[in-house]
Amino acid sequence: MKRTLASVEKRAAELRRVIEHHNHRYYVLDDPEVSDADYDALLNELRDLEEQHPELRTPDSPTQRVGAKPLDKFEPVRHLRPMYSLANARNEEELRAWDARVRKLAADRGTPLEQVEYVSEPKIDGLAISLVYENGILTRGATRGDGEVGEGVTQNLRTIKAIPLRVEDAPALVEVRGEVYLPRSAFAALNEQRAEAGEPTFANPRNAAAGAIRQLDAAITASRPLSMWCYGLGAMEGIDLDTHAAELEWLSQAGFKVTPDWKVHTDLEALVRECRRWEEEREGLDYEIDGVVVKVNDLDVQRGLGVVGREPRGAIAWKFAPMTATTTLRSVMWNVGRTGHMVPFANLEPVQVSGVTVKLATLHNEEDLRRKDVRDGDEVIVMRAGDVIPQVVSPTPKAQRNRKRSPPPKPPDRCPACGTPTIKPEEGVWTICPNRASCPGQIFQAVKHFVSKGAMDIDGLGEKQAYRFLSEGLIKDVSDIYSLTEEQLTELEGFGEISASNLLQSIERSKEVPFFRVLYALGIPGIGYVNARALAQQFGSIDALMAASPEEIEETPGIGPVLARTIAETLSEDTTRELIERLRGHGLKMASEGPPPGADGKLSGLTFVLTGTLPDLSRERASEMIEAAGGKVTNSVSRKTDYVVAGSEPGSKLAKAEELGVAVIDKDRLLDLLENGRPPES
Ligand code: NAD
Repeated sequence: MKRTLASVEKRAAELRRVIEHHNHRYYVLDDPEVSDADYDALLNELRDLEEQHPELRTPDSPTQRVGAKPLDKFEPVRHLRPMYSLANARNEEELRAWDARVRKLAADRGTPLEQVEYVSEPKIDGLAISLVYENGILTRGATRGDGEVGEGVTQNLRTIKAIPLRVEDAPALVEVRGEVYLPRSAFAALNEQRAEAGEPTFANPRNAAAGAIRQLDAAITASRPLSMWCYGLGAMEGIDLDTHAAELEWLSQAGFKVTPDWKVHTDLEALVRECRRWEEEREGLDYEIDGVVVKVNDLDVQRGLGVVGREPRGAIAWKFAPMTATTTLRSVMWNVGRTGHMVPFANLEPVQVSGVTVKLATLHNEEDLRRKDVRDGDEVIVMRAGDVIPQVVSPTPKAQRNRKRSPPPKPPDRCPACGTPTIKPEEGVWTICPNRASCPGQIFQAVKHFVSKGAMDIDGLGEKQAYRFLSEGLIKDVSDIYSLTEEQLTELEGFGEISASNLLQSIERSKEVPFFRVLYALGIPGIGYVNARALAQQFGSIDALMAASPEEIEETPGIGPVLARTIAETLSEDTTRELIERLRGHGLKMASEGPPPGADGKLSGLTFVLTGTLPDLSRERASEMIEAAGGKVTNSVSRKTDYVVAGSEPGSKLAKAEELGVAVIDKDRLLDLLENGRPPES
């Protein structure tokens, strides 16, 4: 039945309204409500309607505009050249149709059909960023925003090690474009740490990266191990490049991290094979990709093809199958975590998510469950992202509107692993199993955590093996992993000599893992990945940390009094100390080596003391920035102090500095040092 123009108009208006709402959630709040696939379906419906009825297309339609308006809290940055979105090819036919159009348009412009070349690159699922270098110095960094005006986030971008602050032999002006992202392993560790600390978890690495960049506090950005893949140049003066491949080569030689494994193709069949290869390998990568970007290599031809709405015609994104799906939550079930807390997970109506059948998904912790308000019987959005473990993102709006919903699920009265009655400690937010010493569930989780990627990274010792080694009595705790022998392993059914020797090799290799990861691997309550880095930086060794009082631990950035006490208590327990000694005996690193993790070394070897109030910079933030650059912050001024940073109303430390002849600097000078390091002695 043909729809009347009035009903089409009504539907288009409705779609615009809903899409605008989702754009706001996604681009402004970094907290999407629906899956990308559901969002794309709405946008495609609107696009189809506008194609059939061009008179309905308005200049402010979401099909014509990129992203969303920048947030007021950041300085607006007008891009030197607009930052566009990309047209999508949802399948092979759409890619072939695009190729045919490109060749025709190229031929119209005088380029022979057979000479059209394409470049393929992975489509990184992060946050689009523009970096402006003037005479080789990074002067401005901004988000894409609405494509015309982005958010100025230069300070935050400066904390990312993959971004050069200076480029040698640079042209007068060059704008570098790329995607800031959070590696999947770091994302998994960050979410785990947030879940442990009772903070909201991120839906995916893209949101975690976007949230980290769009911070007013650069120290928060610095605490997340972000990186950046660069994929092209925008405005430039003083260089002239003919092809996209030449741009990528220029970026590489200038010291940027360029999208991995890009290729030039003349043959369309090879290009299609390349797209399929990326799709197959997608799961094994340490960064999220949601497709392959194909660009016309000749920049004259590429630009000459023009822009339609928000999409340049000289490039297209081959989109992969979505990593999200909608299904029914049969029930919330419970497990025990490595620190004894009850962990909810979802028992789902089986559903296909990008080629994998998902029946179970994580719900992180009691707090997250409460915040998401997921209930038995709800229709929910399930996502596989960042980690292989699928997660429940949220109930669908339909489920939230359902008047006959089940009551919110409650944690169990008895530990599901050992049957011990559960308790809710007075100050705690979570229900726990108090049987720490012998609950088999907790020990299993502790082993799983210990061998995981962000921790000791023992390849070949996955969940199944951990379960088997424990149930067959080969190991009783994590330290026994280092006593496993080839004979023991080869006696196990299905364990050949090769897999035994591979496993023993990766166990041996794990002894090289740096101290902060050993600290994280120990699974001490409150020491997630980020806190482990901070503690390793603050104390330098396990002995110094074990000797520290809760008050001293509290001086570590990001650690409050409750966590500090938990950490000190756990570290003073005999079981923890014995475990640490056994692991030390096996040769694991119990002290940091070289500059602390995350340090870019600019302030390596320099000691700072902070006094007074610095304008617009908290002391904690200043300390974090100094430490992230390899410097040390101490409390008292001595001859070993290199700089005293003084703000208004400084205390006796200023007088002491003057007495000892220690250099006294202000906030601006500190920022200068952070950026450029200490100038050579004159
Ligand atoms: P897009 O992400 O599909 O493609 C354009 C972007 O790809 C570019 O801006 C660039 O940042 C990026 N990119 C990554 N690798 C690249 C490479 N090698 N070369 C060039 N560009 C590369 O389009 P979009 O307009 O940025 O956003 C749309 C996406 O956001 C869709 O996936 C959509 O589903 C999602 N979205 C979701 C919601 C939601 O509510 N779930 C809301 C809005 C948008």
